[in-house]
Amino acid sequence: MQLPDVPEEQAIATVHRAMALGINHYETARGYGSSEEILGRALRTFDRSSFILTTKITPKHYQNYRGCIEESLTRLQVDYLDNFDIHGINNEEQVEWVFKKGGALEAVQQAMSEGLIRHVGFSSHGQLEIILKVIETGEFESVNLHYYYFNQRNLPAVRRAGELDMGVLIISPTDKGGRLHRPPQYLRDLTAPYHPITINHRFLLSHPEVTTVTVGAAQPDEFAPHLKALEADGPLTEEEQEIIARLDRQYEKLGNTFCTLCHQCLPCPEGINIPEVLRLRNLAIAFDMVEFGRYRYKMFENTDHWFGGRKAVYCTKCNDCLPRCPEKLDIPALLMEAHKMLYREEGKRKWSD
Ligand code: SF4
Ligand code: SF4
Repeated sequence: MQLPDVPEEQAIATVHRAMALGINHYETARGYGSSEEILGRALRTFDRSSFILTTKITPKHYQNYRGCIEESLTRLQVDYLDNFDIHGINNEEQVEWVFKKGGALEAVQQAMSEGLIRHVGFSSHGQLEIILKVIETGEFESVNLHYYYFNQRNLPAVRRAGELDMGVLIISPTDKGGRLHRPPQYLRDLTAPYHPITINHRFLLSHPEVTTVTVGAAQPDEFAPHLKALEADGPLTEEEQEIIARLDRQYEKLGNTFCTLCHQCLPCPEGINIPEVLRLRNLAIAFDMVEFGRYRYKMFENTDHWFGGRKAVYCTKCNDCLPRCPEKLDIPALLMEAHKMLYREEGKRKWSD
């Protein structure tokens, strides 16, 4: 869990409610502010064998990775971690920090040999190609990635991890998966009688490869739409399939401006993440998910490799990408439209068309 800015008592009450509901896997990270400490305080009254704990540390700390692991154990008030993820293997530089001699993986393997860590996985916010490359190393037992109804780009990684019998944990399906805790009314109507959170969870859990979805509740009373997803199991029911088909049909609203997210337009010499900008445009038009689009769009250039790429405003209309687009989209024009729709920050560069 990444704790948002909530009072500690509320965070602890939320964890205690989760335990009472039978939720037994807690996931945090060194980089999530005071999350490890608060989670440690929340869980210390429970028997250690009654919960599974995952924490994550970015490989940039590889020179003192062992020290960081020990700090996490101290903060979490435990003697061992059930699972440990090398956090955010997002680009080639981080791949190097993980696998080099004296790198992060070596420190994890040493900690495993001493019983401090029981299982090792990795998380990634990077491109599909990086995720597949790391999966294929065979060094990890699980992968922690972005995959949602509203972003299915990483399906090949989910499938490949399943073939290799790896665990697949879905990062933030509610918030990063579409800000589904605050859905637009239009989306709510489309998924009725279920909450969009429930449908997204059911979509994910209908994949046999998906082993864990995270909940991300910030309050003790936020669990209902998550738990609702557990009332069914396995493949989507007929009713759920109809809802997914209804969602799929919304993309028709984009007509011949629909971006299929094939990524063939990349690379852009200006570093614009064309498919991600156009995905946000797709969602804003198809599902009225404008607020989600704004929330993600402002992250470009502000979150380094965690959400790579620059804003659409930097398009020079060089047209390099145009011949590579199988849909023959007018990419500069669509980027301009997306920027106007999604850009809301003050004092930054605006389009000057
Ligand atoms: S036209 Fe714009 S988006 Fe396409 S490659 Fe050139 S700068 Fe990048
Ligand atoms: S090549 Fe065209 S359809 Fe494919 S991601 Fe780029 S803009 Fe979208």
